[in-house]
Amino acid sequence: MSVLEKMSSAEAIALEDKHGAHNYHPLPVVLSRGEGVYVWDVEGKKYYDFLSAYSAVNQGHCHPKIVGAMVQQAQTLTLTSRAFYNDKLGVYEQFVTDYFGFDKVLPMNTGAEAVETALKICRKWAYEKKGIAENQAQIIVCEGNFHGRTTTIISFSNDANARKNFGPYTEGFIRIPYDDIEALENALNSSPNIAGFLVEPIQGEAGVYVPNEDYLAKAKALCEKYNALFIADEVQTGIARTGSILAVCGNCTCENKCEKQATYVAPDILILGKALSGGAYPVSAVLANDHIMNVIKPGQHGSTFGGNPIAGAVAIAALEVINDEKLIQNARRLGKLFRAQIGEYIKTSTIATLVRGKGLLNAVVINDTEESDTAWNICLKLAENGLLAKPTHGNIIRFAPPLVMNEEQLLDCVSIIVNTLKEFER
Ligand SMILES: *Cc1c(COP(=O)(O)O)cnc(C)c1O
Repeated sequence: MSVLEKMSSAEAIALEDKHGAHNYHPLPVVLSRGEGVYVWDVEGKKYYDFLSAYSAVNQGHCHPKIVGAMVQQAQTLTLTSRAFYNDKLGVYEQFVTDYFGFDKVLPMNTGAEAVETALKICRKWAYEKKGIAENQAQIIVCEGNFHGRTTTIISFSNDANARKNFGPYTEGFIRIPYDDIEALENALNSSPNIAGFLVEPIQGEAGVYVPNEDYLAKAKALCEKYNALFIADEVQTGIARTGSILAVCGNCTCENKCEKQATYVAPDILILGKALSGGAYPVSAVLANDHIMNVIKPGQHGSTFGGNPIAGAVAIAALEVINDEKLIQNARRLGKLFRAQIGEYIKTSTIATLVRGKGLLNAVVINDTEESDTAWNICLKLAENGLLAKPTHGNIIRFAPPLVMNEEQLLDCVSIIVNTLKEFER
């Protein structure tokens, strides 16, 4: 067919199936346009987006301010590489470090790259500042973690599907149960070679597990006690998703420089991605203070695209939108409403057993086994009923709409979700 003809969903799916690697299992929906909380498929059907590209599109689809910044910069200068300076990078670095209250940022592109960067900084810090003997550093991670897909990152995953036949694996990681302070202290105490603790403040991919209220603060205190770095992976939880600018801000709703707030658990290394660009462009970042970041010297780490002028312009706009549109407060308010409304339905439901989450990062647990396809079938039905969501682990459905949603839209979505779930009551 000619590229000028409009493609049907079936044709688009067939093309991907034939010519693309089968590394994803998408819902059979082919999207061609997005605006705010809505996306449209090639047949013109309109949906509420309740995945937000895994929380990358927090600011809503095609936000005009973000797209405007991107287009303007794309017409001016796109890429210099870091072989030269450019007039946008320093401005962005000042903005983002000021926004999150760190001395320095190391710009990358994807979340996984930022995690890798954080691990490298942590190891280097351990050898050069903590005095761990060469090649002996250990980093503690959690069961059920999701930090991306590189060889090193999947080495410390416990998702069989993510690991199987990708070995040999990178050494130097100790895995402990999530939300278990005693296990963390035991691991920190087990060896003098612990360099850091890498943690998701809420485990998103695992099924939106929110730890105990004091878990992060206690974990940070233990890391201090044992002189290990507390590394927060906020690629999914950050940028207003959970009703604060970062999940490590606890219940604080201030808009930036979180270190001034009492509930703030300051990471030694903060990892951001996804919504740092509002989903417009791959932009990730690793933030840390000088005594940590300065272990990296010229030639020791890099990325051709990291810190490019478009990324800088886009990220500034994306972070400004968070403040301009009060998305922290909106995520918090609508999240409470969502859990209250779904919770009310669950009281008498035979198909849904639990709703959990924080801000607008929530999950509903479906009353079936992890191996069942009930959650998948519910998501197919939700799509038919005009709402896109995806199962995380078997019987758990994540609900994470763009944060620009309003109350009327949210209530409309709640009724779509409840009515759809009711079709599966037994
Ligand atoms: C998505 C995600 C990543 C990986 O980001 P990519 O851009 O897909 O590489 C890392 N950590 C967390 C917590 C994530 O949700």
